[in-house]
Amino acid sequence: MHTDVFIAGAGLAGLSLARALHDKRGSFLLAEARNRVGGRILSIESAGDNQETTVADMGPSWIWPGQTRIATLLDQLGIKVFEQYSSGRLVYEDERGQVRRDLDYSTMAGSLRVRDGLARLTRELATRLPAENLWLSHRVVCIRQQAQGYQIDLEHAAGRLQLHANQVVLAMPPRLVAERIDFDPPLPQPVMRDLRATPTWMAGHAKLFVHYQRPFWRDMGLSGDGISRLGPLMEIHDASPAEPGPGALFGFVGLPVGSPARESSRLVEDALKQLERMFGPPGANPLDVIVKDWAEDIDTATPADNANGHHPQYGVSPAIAALAQRGLLFASTEMASQFGGFVEGALEASQATLQQLESG
Ligand SMILES: Cc1cc2nc3c(=O)[nH]c(=O)nc-3n(C[C@H](O)[C@H](O)[C@H](O)COP(=O)(O)OP(=O)(O)OC[C@H]3O[C@@H](n4cnc5c(N)ncnc54)[C@H](O)[C@@H]3O)c2cc1C
Repeated sequence: MHTDVFIAGAGLAGLSLARALHDKRGSFLLAEARNRVGGRILSIESAGDNQETTVADMGPSWIWPGQTRIATLLDQLGIKVFEQYSSGRLVYEDERGQVRRDLDYSTMAGSLRVRDGLARLTRELATRLPAENLWLSHRVVCIRQQAQGYQIDLEHAAGRLQLHANQVVLAMPPRLVAERIDFDPPLPQPVMRDLRATPTWMAGHAKLFVHYQRPFWRDMGLSGDGISRLGPLMEIHDASPAEPGPGALFGFVGLPVGSPARESSRLVEDALKQLERMFGPPGANPLDVIVKDWAEDIDTATPADNANGHHPQYGVSPAIAALAQRGLLFASTEMASQFGGFVEGALEASQATLQQLESG
């Protein structure tokens, strides 16, 4: 089988590139290792009372004003945003578990959330692609350069298959490219070095989502924002839906990857005790709790991502950029120089890749 452009990875970057190629009637194929689209964008339905559900964003929750690509895309698809709830005081817990509820400060005021969860966006993009151009549960394992273009080996439930493409776009975290795909001939050493040195944004993090009957903290004049030096959650935010009704909080887990306290059942137990300390007794009585540990997810993280650092300066290094001449391009958010790491960066990287495909 042959295609002009082969795209590996149906996260936001790969999907938006596929959409642009489809709009231009280009020949392309988008292959995704998971059995779902969205990559790090993951919204899970959480069940509550009386069949009432709410959506938990277990990957990204926020976009910000000034991120024009994502704002435009959401608008085009008719997807609404709403402001992060930020009225009221922040709760602070020190190392000894002493709690203060008098801090007039909001950590995420002005940020925006997507109604019904961010995965609505990636689902909508996927449904607009012809089914035959989007292959779920197909993992790229080997890329061989040929006299003309590339041969790509894909693993799927029933075995392996090969296809041929003139150009290949790797819309997946650079470290996964370096660690999980065999290249023939091998990628040049400077490229391998740069791919391995590029942290996958947020890959070492875990998120815990807690669904309550109502956002009870708001009655106490609290915003749902919390900072804790004791943990296991280090940073907590209101994650309730836009409409009045159920309430939800989510927290970023502040424990090292692999520590016994990060194991799911222990984590939930300790987190509910913490939420009770910080937000009062109803904090210990949720309708549902969801945990997503991205560090354990082989389609996002590598062991090198276990250490969470500061937001790096992302972009395409000269060694990686040089591969475009041979028709091998990179398009994940980590390749974006302005908004690298963010969902806006995934769109920035895919737009830059489209321009390169068109000019090459
Ligand atoms: C916990 C968390 C919180 C975050 N919070 C925010 C936030 O609030 N705001 C924000 O802007 N950003 C946030 N981010 C970052 C945001 O999720 C990313 O910027 C964005 O989703 C990256 O999209 P992408 O398409 O570049 O990569 P990905 O979403 O990683 O997509 C890559 C795709 O490639 C697939 N893949 C991997 N290997 C292969 C293979 N061998 N073959 C085929 N397919 C493969 C993967 O399954 C995946 O679907 C957060 C991320 C996490 C994890």
